[in-house]
This record gives sequence, structure tokens and C-alpha cells, in this order.
Amino acid sequence: MKSEEELKKLLNRIDGKGYGAYKKLKGSYEIGDYQLFVDHVQGDPYASPSRFRIRLTQLKAGFPVELFETETRKIALEDYLTRRFSDEAKRIAKGNRGSGKSGMIAVTDFGQAVLRRTSCEITGDYVEVTFVVGLPAGGRTPLSKIQGKEMIFDEITKIAENSLYFDNLEKDKVRKHVETVEDAEFIRSKLEEENLVAFLADGSILPRESGIGDKPMNEDDAVPFESPESLEASFDTPNRGEIKGMGIPEGVTLIVGGGYHGKSTLLNAIARSVYNHIPGDGREFVVTDPDAVVIRAEDGRFVENCDISPFISNVPSGLDTSGFSTEDASGSTSQAANITEALEVGAQLLLIDEDTSATNLMIRDERMQGLVAKEEEPITPLIDRIGQLYEERGVSSILVMGGSGDYFDVADNVIQMKNYLPKDVTDRAREIAEKYESKRKREGGEEFGGTKDRKPVPESIDPRKKSGKVKIKARGMDTIQFGYRNIDLSKIHQITERSQVRLIGDIIFYAAKNIFDGDTTIEEGMEKIEGLMREKGIHEFTPYKAGNYASPRKYEIAAALNRLRSLSCE
Ligand code: ADP
Ligand code: MG
Repeated sequence: MKSEEELKKLLNRIDGKGYGAYKKLKGSYEIGDYQLFVDHVQGDPYASPSRFRIRLTQLKAGFPVELFETETRKIALEDYLTRRFSDEAKRIAKGNRGSGKSGMIAVTDFGQAVLRRTSCEITGDYVEVTFVVGLPAGGRTPLSKIQGKEMIFDEITKIAENSLYFDNLEKDKVRKHVETVEDAEFIRSKLEEENLVAFLADGSILPRESGIGDKPMNEDDAVPFESPESLEASFDTPNRGEIKGMGIPEGVTLIVGGGYHGKSTLLNAIARSVYNHIPGDGREFVVTDPDAVVIRAEDGRFVENCDISPFISNVPSGLDTSGFSTEDASGSTSQAANITEALEVGAQLLLIDEDTSATNLMIRDERMQGLVAKEEEPITPLIDRIGQLYEERGVSSILVMGGSGDYFDVADNVIQMKNYLPKDVTDRAREIAEKYESKRKREGGEEFGGTKDRKPVPESIDPRKKSGKVKIKARGMDTIQFGYRNIDLSKIHQITERSQVRLIGDIIFYAAKNIFDGDTTIEEGMEKIEGLMREKGIHEFTPYKAGNYASPRKYEIAAALNRLRSLSCE
């Protein structure tokens, strides 16, 4: 480890040389209370910025052990420190100090969810933040003597001072962040024994400020959530004490109600609450079964050797739909494939919105059954399968269904959204179902049946470009460039951050090299990945250490793999 003096001399010497001279910075330095690590130096001012880490011993940082003694608390505290470091970097870094990214100091981008991240690590010995720095240059000439020194000795140390010493933080906010996440996780751990698949605390703010953003709607406009009495549930949480709200039981739940009354908003909040949220988000105590997966139609998607026979069979061409492949799925086949792929990797709760579903996969009513005989219709609609999924496999569903009362027959619970508030209308729906008895016939047989396990061929997962060079890159939230192909994630609703997208690409490559061997199923592969993530951490999967990775779930990893157009499965 080099001294502060040596770093200053080095910065003097690099100044005015060719940009490549900056490479000499790679290494580690003692600066005051800190250790500074320069892990990677950018090749030019416009390239990806350089990667730095700053570490402070706990003797100086002084975080009480109780704030990171459990896995949940540690993840929450690391998330909090990432956010503080980022705020301080935005406030303190001067920014523009020459060409390209000169002057930039930044940690990862993040959203409303608290995730396992690589941006910060806290242990009994130290706290460390990984961030990026745009080394200052005029054109391609290093401006290290003055600008570089200012960035390192003034800005970076000041940012660290404000965010990494417990005494310099607002302690009640640190505690609140950690305790909020712990309480939410506590509720999640209790859902199963309460026979619930989701919980929404009274007072939660579900709507978001805009269709694309994830921040909460302004408090003056949003109607806070309130449970109907009959669905009330409560949890005695470790920090906040009793939290009351609505529990959604296992089984089949319908969400009905008029247009614009908040049905999709409710379902989206449930979908995103497989993750914990930061205090102030409005969904801090909206908690969903971690094995919940949004299912939708996705016409045009690629499907590889997927067993969609529970939903589609006896197609006119005689095609075997227990091993269905296509480059360009229809609405119904894509939605059927999305269901069987989610089940394949362990989904326990399906979340389905009629807005984004294929009508012919959802329902076939009495009149249509009269006109088009079953022998002429390959599709068995979900209405005939959804109860079987619960009875045979314990897989529950929550469906937004304002358009078809036939579903009353298969629903265990019916919730009506009225002026953004839920009402329990289960009894009323039952009465109506009896009064106007549906004459539609059940289709598709008495059993959902088994689905096949698929084994990926590792050679079919190849991230090399035509030139032979490996290229894996997250392009926004919606696309992973994987070699010369793009994986389309635009219809995957439960990715909340780009940092997850980055990691998904690397995990798929890792799995092709180290996990899939032609004899390992997708399900086994995903289990292994989750195990490694817990035991060895995120960096097990990445080509180098960087601060901008966050954990995805196995469902989103599998979803990306399933959309890789070269994938081949036995
Ligand atoms: P639906 O699916 O029933 O047609 P949406 O969930 O799309 O309705 O909601 C319609 C509009 O109402 C959206 O713009 C949404 O932001 C807004 N909204 C939903 N829930 C609330 C709420 N609790 N308070 C205020 N506005 C809400
Ligand atoms: Mg809707």
C-alpha cells in the first residue's frame, strides 16, 4: 500500500503526459483515515470511467454491530450507505473537469427497491464503497496535478467523510431504513404460515407518480390503501409493532371493478413488492410471496422446446405442443409459454392482468363453445386450469378480471376496487354465480398434468460477437446485448433496476460455462445460481469487481435465458 505522498508525486508526474500515463495509478493508497483502491483505469476520457474503492475501518466508521448483524440488516445498511454516498457525490463532485467524463464521481444507479448490491460492503472490520471516477483531462492530456488532486483529496475524501462515519449520519434515518426492511422481511417470512400470498398495509401508497416512473404519487393526490374488514390481517413486527392491512389468501383471487378504479395499480404494487422498498416509497409494507411472477401475453417472443400442452394441444398441423418452439409466438402461445416457464423454475403465485393478456387464453364462453366445438379449438383457457394449478401444485393466482364473470366460478376470493379502495365482494359474486348459472363446459380434462423439465445445451448460450469477442451489455432496462444477439426484456415487469439487468447477462454466461452441462435442468441451474449468490456473493458471476450490480431473482434470470434466441434445450 502506497502513501498519500507517493500518490501526490504520482499525480504530479502524470500531469501533461499522454492519457495512458494514468494507468500508473492502479494500486492502493493510504489517505488519512482511508484506504483508496484504484482497481481499473479508463483508457481514454470517453471510455467507461475508472473504478475506485474507498475503505474505512470500523474503528473509525463506528457502525454498531446490531445494524448489520443479520443478512437482511446488512443488505439494508449497505443499500442505505450507497444512497448516502451517491447523494454526497452529487452534491460535492464538481463534475465537469475537462473532456469526456472528466470530473465525474458516481456510485451505481438505483431505484426504490432495497437490493443486494456490490456498491457497498460492510463487515466487522470495515465499510467500503465502490464507485466510478472520470479522471480529469483536457482533450487526452491528464490534468492530474491540480484537478486530479482536488478530486481525490478534497472531493472523494469529503464524500466519504459525510457518508461513511456513523457519527456523521442522521442516526434515526439509518435505523429506520434498516428496521423498515427488517419488518417487511419479517412479514414476508410469516405469509406462508398465515396462508397468505400478499399483504398490503393500511396507509400504503400504491399509485406511482407516472406510468414509467417508480416514485410514489404525490401524497395530496393519492388515496391511501385501506383493507376491507373481512380481509384484515395483522403482523406483530419486531420494530414497528403491529402492522394492519389486507391479506390476500392463497388460492384464486379476482380483482374486479370498473375501469380506472385502480385494479392494475393494485396488481403492479403486488408484483413489485417481491422486493423490499425504501422508507417513503409508499410500498414499504406491501409484501408479496417472493415466488410471484407476472404473466402476460408477449406476441413475437422466441420460445424453445416448451411444454404448452396444458393450454394448447391438437393444433391443425399436428404439431406436438409438449415441445413447442417458435421464433414468433402468438398472444396465446406466448402467454402459455410464460406460464409453463414460470412454473418450471418454481413460481408459487401468478399475477395476471386482463389488460396485458390474450383474451382467447383467458376465456371461452358458453356461446363460443356452442359455435366452435372443442375439437376445433386447440386452446384450453386459463379459467379451466387455474383451479387445477392450486389444487395440484399449490400455485395461487391473482387476476385482474373486469370483463368476465365466468371466473366467479373458480375464484376463492373476489375483491372489487372502487374509487381506489378494495371491497370484499366474494359473497355477492357467489350469489350472482348461482343466480346466473354459467352453462359453459369445463375443458381440458380433470388434471393440469406434468410439464417437462428442459436441459439447456451449453453451446447454445454463446455471448461472442461474430469477431469472436465476448460482449455482454445491459442496454437500459429492456435489453441485454449478448454477443451479436439482443435479449428483449421489455415485457418482464419485475426487473426494477438496470443494475439487475447487467448482472443477468453475466449470470447467463457464467451458467453456460460452469453450470449447464447438457444434463442440468433450467430449474437445477437456477437453484445453483441462487445458492452461489447467497454463499459467494454477486462477484462470483462477474468478470471483474464493479459497484453497479444488484441481485435479480431467478425468475428474471430464467426469463432472459428463455428469450435468448439461440437457446436450445433437450
Ligand atoms: P384500472 O386498472 O382499474 O383501469 P388503474 O390501476 O390503471 O385502473 O388506475 C387508473 C388511474 O388511477 C391511474 O392513473 C392511477 O395512477 C390512478 N390511481 C390508482 N390508484 C390510485 C390511488 N390509490 N390514488 C390515486 N390515484 C390512483
Ligand atoms: Mg387496468
